[in-house]
Amino acid sequence: MNTLVTGGAGYIGSMTCKELIRRGHKVVVYDNLSNSKASFAKWGELVVGDVTDKALLTQTLKKNNIEGIFHFAGAIEVGESKLKPMKYFYNNVVGTFNLLAAVQEAGVKHAVFSSTCATYGNSPKIPLTEDLPQNPVSVYGETKLFCEKMFREQTQTTDLCAVMLRYFNASGADPDGESGEGHDPETHLVPLIIRSVLDPNFELQVFGNDYPTDDGTCIRDYAHVTDLAVAHVNALELSVKTKTKLEAFNLGSGKGTSVLEVIKNVERFSGSKVKYAIKARREGDPATLIADISKARRLLGWNPEYTIEDVVRTAFHWHKSQGSFAK
Ligand code: UDP
Repeated sequence: MNTLVTGGAGYIGSMTCKELIRRGHKVVVYDNLSNSKASFAKWGELVVGDVTDKALLTQTLKKNNIEGIFHFAGAIEVGESKLKPMKYFYNNVVGTFNLLAAVQEAGVKHAVFSSTCATYGNSPKIPLTEDLPQNPVSVYGETKLFCEKMFREQTQTTDLCAVMLRYFNASGADPDGESGEGHDPETHLVPLIIRSVLDPNFELQVFGNDYPTDDGTCIRDYAHVTDLAVAHVNALELSVKTKTKLEAFNLGSGKGTSVLEVIKNVERFSGSKVKYAIKARREGDPATLIADISKARRLLGWNPEYTIEDVVRTAFHWHKSQGSFAK
């Protein structure tokens, strides 16, 4: 198929492009390079553009006879969204609005959208299933939920079929060392733990050890980026096959790991002590988030292969190879 990937030079987007090419699809990467580099658009042809630019999007979709799109481009930090809400409304809501308008104009029939478990808010039920109410507690989650609603309404009134993929904690790096995480500033746990090993001047802050979990630290579901990329391509192929108007899947590993357990994993792998200090809780962090991935297993035929040990190993190699935290 001819596909267009917004945010295709980014972390999960680039790995999805790699998987698309591996499976014989054509790829146009559409990225404004605001939080990534052209060198990360290794798979497919790069068009530098913004998702709010409806005219360029429409032209690119038409020119390349695009049949399916993946929409990754957006702002992704929960904490930042509280401080800069307009950035999130603009990039995520206005961006998706323009993309959907272009998709309609170009007659594209299939879309896969990067959503998030942050759309559920504080769930009373763990593990989380897709049918739970979505009550986000962050601006980031609000904007992603609003985008889901736009996709839903477009599927009801146009030819569009859309799949919402709600990620848990995307982590790890390409096992071949060709792509990985590189946010600036970095706020995510796995890279920051690795930084505390590689950068002598950096100490990790553990946000709270008084949560109602076994060791008191938050439990999250760390999904390897390669597994996520496979799920995306499966989602497009399922959409084309079944023409289901709207579908949503939780994507995680299905297993929970506490902050201290991730730290121990990095210590085991690197043979070095992780420097950390226990700090106050971070606002908006639920104690436990674990995905129920049975629906994705059943309908997407998806079997995540990578463990938390693989996440740590591949991320560690990636950051070392990039000289990410070398001082
Ligand atoms: N975390 C932490 N210190 C950090 C960054 C994250 O203790 O410097 C914790 C955070 O409170 C959460 C978990 O690690 O429980 C994962 O956080 P991250 O920001 O990586 O992803 P999120 O769960 O917010 O999507």
